[in-house]
Amino acid sequence: MRATVMYAAGDVRVENVPDASLVEPTDALVRVTHACICGSDLWPYKTMERSDAGRHMGHEAIGMVEDVGADVRTLEPGDLVVMPFAFSDGTCVFCHEGLQTSCVHGSFFGTEDVAGAQADAVRVPQADGTLVVLPVDEDDALMPSLLTLSDVMGTGHHAAVAAHVGPGKTAAVVGDGAVGLCGVIAAKRLGAEQIIILGRHPDRIALAREFGATDVVSERGEEAIERVRDLTDGFGVHSVLECVGLEQSELTAIEIARPGGAVGRVGVPQDETMPASQPAFYNNVSVSGGPAPVRAYIEERPPDILGGKIEPGRVLDRVIGLDEAPDGYRAMNGREAIKVMIEP
Ligand SMILES: [Zn+2]
Repeated sequence: MRATVMYAAGDVRVENVPDASLVEPTDALVRVTHACICGSDLWPYKTMERSDAGRHMGHEAIGMVEDVGADVRTLEPGDLVVMPFAFSDGTCVFCHEGLQTSCVHGSFFGTEDVAGAQADAVRVPQADGTLVVLPVDEDDALMPSLLTLSDVMGTGHHAAVAAHVGPGKTAAVVGDGAVGLCGVIAAKRLGAEQIIILGRHPDRIALAREFGATDVVSERGEEAIERVRDLTDGFGVHSVLECVGLEQSELTAIEIARPGGAVGRVGVPQDETMPASQPAFYNNVSVSGGPAPVRAYIEERPPDILGGKIEPGRVLDRVIGLDEAPDGYRAMNGREAIKVMIEP
């Protein structure tokens, strides 16, 4: 089968690799019908040191179950399923608490633990706890939106939950990538009255406005902080969704939170330390967030998506075949595409 392998920064290849197969009795084998390239795949694309073995990329997918291990109870061949970016058993203490990304038997796709989904097929560990059957056909027009349940929609929602977005509150979204745009959808869905997007790409800003952003701040650094305060009676916002993970964006997120506000961060932090400790302290700003337990959110979102109430699939603005994956990385890295969908 074909798989997308990254060997070094800027070096992504589609190669023939041994077929994915069942290993554990709790595994499912899934033929990938839809996958995508994630903003977080761009970090190694910019920085990865050369590796002879390479890294099998991809952690977002919809696919068809082809085979299941002897202990799998809830799935059978022919089921169309969505795969969260982390696998989880669904039975441990953290899964019961809705924090499947901390599952004691879990881990992430596209890592040393399990190969990635930008491929013809993927082995899914802990299949009963991980996969969710979709009530549609694989050629359904809603497929892009359902695919965002793998990561970006659930991650944007997690940022909004961690930032305590609620009815009548003010919110700001730092970052206009796919997660930030889904964060706008989530903030609106949870009732935010004012939603300020911090971003500077015209196509993304336009989509953010359609998703419900009420104000746009395209400045950076100190100027961005001033602009957000100007838009909020000088106080800052109740809820900040940090969807980037760089020092500057984290600093901005804390500085634009009003006293008593909250920052929900889902951008993978690129530094060990978190900036703005003192402003966060003196303003009683709470900072939380982390890898989104998208598995917990998948079952909540489909009614909104199936009913056409939200359309997060609009962030997938380019569709390619698996062989074109290297071009997909280039397009996303060059900001020519917001997010690329792969149809193997
Ligand atoms: Zn678990």
